[in-house]
Amino acid sequence: MNSKIKLKPCPFCGGEAYLGESWENTKSVQCSICGCGTRHFLNKLDAIETWNKRINVPENSSKK
Ligand SMILES: [Zn+2]
Repeated sequence: MNSKIKLKPCPFCGGEAYLGESWENTKSVQCSICGCGTRHFLNKLDAIETWNKRINVPENSSKK
């Protein structure tokens, strides 16, 4: 089970996203162009899920 996980393009610039690793083995998904990204997660799937979700937020979504 080493299939490549698909990341949606950046919601801001449409750039290619990648899974980055940072301190203490945390993972985050980041845009290769504008540098935006998720916060850091211990589980890479959480980072990927967060990234893939945020792009689906409609522009006029109400704020909490
Ligand atoms: Zn971007």
